[in-house]
Amino acid sequence: MRGAPISTQTLPTLRSGAFLLLLLFLFFSFVPTLSAQAIPYSRPVETAPQADTIGGGYKTPAVQKPLPRDALLQVLDVLILAAAMGAAVWLVLKRRSRKWVLALSIGSLAYFGFYREGCVCPIGSIQNVAVALTDRTYAIPMVVTAVFFLPLVVALFFGRAFCGGVCPLGAIQELVVLKPLCVPPRLDRALGLLKYVYLALAILLAIKPALGRDFLICRFDPFVGFFRRTGAPHMLLLGGGFLVLGMFVGRPYCRYLCPYGGLLAWCTRLARRGVTITPDKELDCGLCAEACPYGAIDHMRAVRKDCLYCARCYASCPRDGDLARAKAQLVTLS
Ligand code: SF4
Ligand code: SF4
Repeated sequence: MRGAPISTQTLPTLRSGAFLLLLLFLFFSFVPTLSAQAIPYSRPVETAPQADTIGGGYKTPAVQKPLPRDALLQVLDVLILAAAMGAAVWLVLKRRSRKWVLALSIGSLAYFGFYREGCVCPIGSIQNVAVALTDRTYAIPMVVTAVFFLPLVVALFFGRAFCGGVCPLGAIQELVVLKPLCVPPRLDRALGLLKYVYLALAILLAIKPALGRDFLICRFDPFVGFFRRTGAPHMLLLGGGFLVLGMFVGRPYCRYLCPYGGLLAWCTRLARRGVTITPDKELDCGLCAEACPYGAIDHMRAVRKDCLYCARCYASCPRDGDLARAKAQLVTLS
């Protein structure tokens, strides 16, 4: 007897379940590495040979950036990340305020971008996690583990709040959006696949034997040069190119290249909450679709995996958000 065919509605649920299992597997794979993480790490820089003792015209390479950070401060970074995530969820889903989401993302850009110099970041942590899973001699720092999982866990319940108010790479692109063009849907979907190719390539290069290992995502991070106020000219040019392009194509790195964005998109498939453009009656006027620079609204509804939680659609809605609140205040005053 043949079993009943799997319906098309069941497939996304099965895929989401498989992804959840994968996340759980990843998490529990880390348990054996926790003892290795407890090994104190020190860097006796002053005992290393210096340029004058080595001689022969040797030049000491530039100091590692960012500098190693005290363990307590690293914990503080994780706490600030968790607090910012909580604030992003509240501001987007409850307060529904574009103004405050923007303020939060500027604060995150200042702290995680320019002050913390773009490190540690969940996007690059993909590589550390991949290495930790394949090389038992590699001790992944606990802070990296936490930073990798935190936005994914939040996305499982509430969607891509990390992209809306916390990620400095997202924030720097958000600030330059000027006159976004509509990317044809088919081209948008095709370009969106690039991030999965990039993700696979980055993992493959990260899990190579230690000597040949390469952290591609960090090496080609287009914005880290701005955060650190230094960098190779070609990388600064690349970052500048993304920002210029981002004036007319909303957040090109997020939509087409960010490998962590690909993981977050998968997690949102399980999320019970997400951006709903109006809280009650839908007007179907289309103003929100015009306001979304990321092509994330389909048939007047936010597409959960593509929605970057910028809250622009609320701001454009005559029934909701800052605009509606301002109108209500005017009515009360008059
Ligand atoms: S898609 Fe990537 S770069 Fe963009 S906001 Fe999300 S995590 Fe950051
Ligand atoms: S649907 Fe578009 S405009 Fe609305 S929050 Fe999502 S990305 Fe922003």
